[in-house]
Amino acid sequence: MSLHSMSLHSDADESALLTVEGAGHRYGQQFGCQDVSFDLWPGEVLAIVGESGSGKSTLLGMLSQRLTTDEGTIRYRPADSSGITATAGAVDLASLSERDIRRLWRTEWGFVHQNAADGLRMHISAGGNICEPLMANGARHYGQLRAQAEHWLERVEIPSHRIDDTPATFSGGMRQRLQIARNLVFAPRLVFMDEPTSGLDVSVQARLLDLIRSLVADLGLSVIIVTHDLAVARLISHRTLVMKDGVVIESGLTDRVLDDPQAAYTQLLVSSIL
Ligand code: ADP
Ligand code: MG
Repeated sequence: MSLHSMSLHSDADESALLTVEGAGHRYGQQFGCQDVSFDLWPGEVLAIVGESGSGKSTLLGMLSQRLTTDEGTIRYRPADSSGITATAGAVDLASLSERDIRRLWRTEWGFVHQNAADGLRMHISAGGNICEPLMANGARHYGQLRAQAEHWLERVEIPSHRIDDTPATFSGGMRQRLQIARNLVFAPRLVFMDEPTSGLDVSVQARLLDLIRSLVADLGLSVIIVTHDLAVARLISHRTLVMKDGVVIESGLTDRVLDDPQAAYTQLLVSSIL
C-alpha cells in the first residue's frame, strides 16, 4: 500500500464510510452493473470512469439508493448524530426505511447532477436554492440564512448581487456552481457527482473542476464522481474504478491506473484508441 493511500485512512479509529460487496442493479433481466466491490474512505475522492453505456450512472444510482441493489450489499457508516442505529458502526442501506434515507439526503448526502436543472429549483432565487436545504433542517433565522447564502455564493464565485435572481438567468457554469453550493451548504459527508463538468465549455470545465477540488479538500468530503473524461479523474480523484459492460475491470490509485494500466481495456482507454 502506498503512502498516498494510507494517508487517507491513517487514523486507526476511522473505518470505511461505504463498503460495497458484490453489488449489482438489474434492468429487467439485464444487469446495468454487477459484482461491484470497493471501500470508500473518509476524505477520499473516487472516480468511476468508462465509456458511455458502461454502467457508471447505474452504479452511482445504486450506491446513492436511487436504484435498487439487486445483488450484494452496500454498507454505510452514518454520523454518530444521525439517529440511525448501526451495528458495528455501519448499516446495510437496504435495511433502512425511506424516512432514514430521506434523512441521509437532508443531512449527510449530496448529489450533483450533470444537468443543473435536475438539481436546482429553477423558479426560486439563487439565495433560496442555497437556503432551502438549511430550512429543511430547521433553520429559520432570516438574517443567518441570508448571511449563509451570501457566504456560499462568494465561495462558489457567484456575484452576491445575483442572490435574488433565479438560476434560469444564469450561465451554465454559474448554474453548476450554484448546484454545488446547494449540495454543500448543509455540510454533507458524502457527495455523489454524475458528470458534473460535462456539457460545459472547456475553460468553464477547468474552472469548475478547480473549484470542486478546493472545496472537497477544504471540507474533507468523501466524493464519488462519475466521468467519461480521464483528465477529470486525474485532476480530482485519489482512486479510480474503470467500468466496462457493467463490471469493474480495474481499480486502484488514480495515478497507477492511468500511468500503468494493467487491463488491456484500460490501456486502450488511456491511449484514447476507444
Ligand atoms: P453510463 O452512465 O456509463 O453511460 P448507464 O449506467 O447509463 O451507463 O447504462 C448502463 C447500461 O444499462 C446500458 O446498457 C444502458 O443501456 C442500460 N440502461 C441504463 N438505464 C436503463 C433503463 N432505465 N432501463 C433499461 N436499461 C438501462
Ligand atoms: Mg451516465
